[in-house]
Parts: sequence; C-alpha cells; structure tokens
Amino acid sequence: RTADFAAFRDPDLARELIARINALVADRAIYLMEVCGTHTVSIGRYGFRSVLPEGLHLLSGPGCPVCVTANRDIDRAIALARLDGVITATFGDMMRVPGSSTSLIAEKAAGRDIRVVYSPLDALDIAAQNPAREVVFISVGFETTTPAMAACVLEAAERGLSNFSLFCANKTTPAALRAIEDDPQTRIDGFLLPGHVSTITGAAPYRFLVDEFSTPGVITGFEPVDILAGIEMLARMVISGAPDIKNAYPRGAHREGNTVAQRLCAEVFEPCDALWRGLGELPASGLRLRDAYAAFDASRRFDIEVEPTVEPRGCRCGDVLRGRIAPGECPLFGRGCTPEHPIGPCMVSSEGSCAASFRFKDR
Ligand code: SF4
Repeated sequence: RTADFAAFRDPDLARELIARINALVADRAIYLMEVCGTHTVSIGRYGFRSVLPEGLHLLSGPGCPVCVTANRDIDRAIALARLDGVITATFGDMMRVPGSSTSLIAEKAAGRDIRVVYSPLDALDIAAQNPAREVVFISVGFETTTPAMAACVLEAAERGLSNFSLFCANKTTPAALRAIEDDPQTRIDGFLLPGHVSTITGAAPYRFLVDEFSTPGVITGFEPVDILAGIEMLARMVISGAPDIKNAYPRGAHREGNTVAQRLCAEVFEPCDALWRGLGELPASGLRLRDAYAAFDASRRFDIEVEPTVEPRGCRCGDVLRGRIAPGECPLFGRGCTPEHPIGPCMVSSEGSCAASFRFKDR
C-alpha cells in the first residue's frame, strides 16, 4: 500500500502530467478554481503555478471554513465566550481570526476560559468534568467535519450532558459554487472539487454545475499527481467543450459518498440560510440543529449581545474567496497584513489563500 501511495508523489509521473498540460493548454487562457483550502496549500507547496502554462489561471475558492465565516458569526462566538461561567472550546484556527473589535485569543488573554481542542468530543469531556459550567463548542466547517459534529451532539444526548451546546456555523459547499457561477465578475472555466468533502457527499451535489452552467468539475485528492491529473482532466473538458463531473480521487470518494455519514448529519441538522464572508447570505447553505436537538443549540440557549459588525478595513478577503483577485493583488498583502499580523481570516488560517500565498511566495 505504501508503494501504491508513493505513486501519487512520483516525480516522473508529475513531470509527464506537467508536460501534457503544457502541450494541451498551449497559449489558451483557462481559469480553474480549486475549491478546497487543502488544494490551495498543495498547489502552493509544490509550486505548480510556476511550471504550468501562463494562461492557465489557478484561482483559490471559498474552501477554507475559517475564511468564509462571516464577521458577524465571529462576533457571536466571541459574545458567547464572554458570558459568565462559560467555557468555550474550538479549533486552533479560530482563535486568531479577527472579529469586529477583538478575537478569541485576545479574549483568552483577557481572562475568558477559551480552550483549543482537536475534536468536538474533547469538548464533551470538558463538559463532563465541569458539570457546574456551560461548555460551548464553536463549530465551523464543511461537509467533511459535519458528521463529527452530528456524532458529538448524539453522544452528548446519550451521556446526558445538559451543560454542552454547539454554536454551529457549518456550511455546505455547492451553494458557494453556485454563487461564484452567478457572479458576473468572476470567470471560472472549471472547478477542482474537494476530495474530502466529496468523500462524504459523493458527486451528485455538483451535477448542477454541468446541467445549469456547462462548467466541468473534477473531484481530486491532495497529492501532486492527484492535483495535476485533475487539472489535466479539467483542461481537456474545457477545451473540448464537453463538461462533466469526473472523479480523479476514486481511492477516497465514491459516487454516492458516505451514506452513513449523510444519514447521521440529516438526523441532527437541517439546512438554513447562512451568511458567508465575501459571498453574502446564501439560501440553505448553512446548518442548524433540528428542533429535537435544540437543547444543544447555543444560539437558542443563550441571549447574547453582539457588537455591530465592522469589516477589517482594506481587507479584500471577499474578492479573494470569489476568485476575483489573487491574494497578491490585495494592497495590504505582505505590507499591513502578514501571518504574524493578519488583518483578514485568509491570512490567519493555515488553509487560507493569503497565508498559503505568503508562505510559499506563490503570488
Ligand atoms: Fe485580507 Fe490580508 Fe488577504 Fe488582504 S492579504 S485579502 S487584508 S487577509
């Protein structure tokens, strides 16, 4: 199996694919969007932009969950963390994201009990160890992480943890792709579709790209050969004018996806409208807990005072997430905004386009 896996990093195979893509694309202008933040990081790490044709534009999309979380939701998470007696738990990436006037890490420094966890189940253990206190888990993520959140809520119910709740800012991917397709200022000829998300959802949710917009998509993995194979398949479909949704990641994603995980999510969550950074309010693109699990819904359990939303001044994260500009085109990139002193979330998250672009000097 190790030998099989090494094939996805095989330099000879990668060189061959690069040569094929260069010959195929030649001097055409083709705009592809990688939807997933992990793809963005891989593309930067392996320096693909420097070896692919100049006219092949790889644009980063809205696939970093922290980056697409609206300031309003960051502010709501901070307001929850400020409630007396509350222990807030969340993933590390959320800590440094600036809200309108502060961040979770600044609130922690000011004395709030905010803890970084690696799994939502860790938050359940904190709740069990602190029965006299409320524990709120701040959840952001896409279809990949939602099943773990659903399992966490079911386990909280089973363990009778009445002091645990979830602030759910989870989102679903297809609505964001539709918003990008509807944007007259963005040209996308094809989408590199997220392998991890597709492992859960399967391919069907992307079919509308072909049926309604004649835009092809390829589900890809995260190794160099995965990504190059996906780009080659996409470029072929763009050039031939024969759009389809194809799977270049059969070792991870299958046509139907993970139906057990899908059922688990559907039992606990229902779709709701959600506000995305850069994309605005998108219908049925978010998830909220069903009424049966309302007791675990932090938004329904706590009255919070949320400060008026102020967007980070000069930050172009919204345009970056829509593929309208590359990170380096933001006037603050590398000047006022760096990973040490981030102004917007795209520079905070390890999967953010600006952070990846800065780290790999891939502008
Ligand atoms: Fe926002 Fe910084 Fe990226 Fe500019 S470089 S879009 S300020 S995160």
